[in-house]
Amino acid sequence: MNLEKSAAAFAAAQKVLVGGVNSPVRAFRAVGGTPFFAHHGQGPHLYDIDGNRYIDYLLSWGPLIWGHAHPAIVEAVCEAAARGTSFGVPTELETRMAELVTAIVPSVEKVRMVNSGTEATMSALRLARAYTGRPCIVKFEGSYHGHADSLLVKAGSGVATLGLPDSPGVPAATAQFTLTVPYNDAEAVRRLFEQRGEEIAAVIVEPVAGNMGCILPKPGFLETLREVTRQHGALLIFDEVMTGFRVALGGAQARFDIDPDLTTLGKVIGAGLPVGAYGGRREIMAMVAPEGPMYQAGTLSGNPLAMAAGVTSLEMLRQAAEDGLYERLEQYGHALVATFEECGQRAGIPVYGHAIGGMFGLFFHDGPVVDYASAKACDTTMYARFFHEMLARGVALAPSQLESGFLSAVHGQRELDETCEAIRGAFAALTA
Ligand SMILES: *Cc1c(COP(=O)(O)O)cnc(C)c1O
Repeated sequence: MNLEKSAAAFAAAQKVLVGGVNSPVRAFRAVGGTPFFAHHGQGPHLYDIDGNRYIDYLLSWGPLIWGHAHPAIVEAVCEAAARGTSFGVPTELETRMAELVTAIVPSVEKVRMVNSGTEATMSALRLARAYTGRPCIVKFEGSYHGHADSLLVKAGSGVATLGLPDSPGVPAATAQFTLTVPYNDAEAVRRLFEQRGEEIAAVIVEPVAGNMGCILPKPGFLETLREVTRQHGALLIFDEVMTGFRVALGGAQARFDIDPDLTTLGKVIGAGLPVGAYGGRREIMAMVAPEGPMYQAGTLSGNPLAMAAGVTSLEMLRQAAEDGLYERLEQYGHALVATFEECGQRAGIPVYGHAIGGMFGLFFHDGPVVDYASAKACDTTMYARFFHEMLARGVALAPSQLESGFLSAVHGQRELDETCEAIRGAFAALTA
């Protein structure tokens, strides 16, 4: 595979962009090698500037549930752009978007649009603190909720600990209000609430974890979070930036039948344009300015190009969901995982995987991956080799094992067959 132009582009980028990229994981540090530079995308395919074609399972890290350059979305964005790119006064498109979100996600009675997932989670936490008058939040080890200060914190070891910042620049004074527990450990959450329940404003959780690979909630885990938060007067925030409109039309909360108090959205909601949102129960959202005292604002929030893309995408998803889209995505994911597991077994290489809706996880691990500890125990060297073997066969996976794979509505049988063939070829190369 020729990557000459990408290599040159990366060298030029590194002179003026930090690490050559605008978001760290794009630099391929977890798998080594040179990132390929996108030229254009079409449907399930991404083309790089050297002319290589990949079946894309990165899909811009989740947003592209309609694949690349879907004609209806491109048309909606162009039409909106021709009328003006931003106004700073309300548009009817924003109301249409809010009507769609509240209809599709019933626990969201009112919504506020923002520009990224980070902005959504950061604002939801401020709101939870404003509403409860409490300082602490609980998050799970290995979960990613964007890069706001109080969320760049994970646990010490096993037991609930006071947070220590993950990044220089996050004051310890901020991190101390972030309490962390292992994902899927309902008992640890109960114990933490028994000790400190009165200080806790909210629990924020990825209802299917997608930022330490794709990890499913154990039966009862999300139910326990709902019960314990209610019992102690804390809010439950589902961070559905990744899972929203992806693991089911109504997100993970529809799939697992749990109503959180607040929900954060991003990625799919913008169909590839920069959009996030947070919303929830009417009386909680009434705390947000201008209805209430909690300040949160944005010059470009509810941007017409982004709303046009999102509204078009959500309207199409509503129709497609009735025609079985999410079941079809999950079957596709299961078929990929089954091939991966078969190949691993035949090769004597420990592997494990699962799929849910339009997300999947492939791990080089002996047995189930249920939390950050098991995710970190995966063989990252083997994943890096597998990743490059797949890339060489025209299949783009996430350039790190601790990320999810994504499917789109325009990935079909042909792409599935080609991908399974690539998986077989990659394992043959791994064991050669
Ligand atoms: C991607 C992601 C975020 C952050 O969204 P950005 O748009 O990258 O700021 C937050 N939470 C979850 C669960 C995510 O997957």
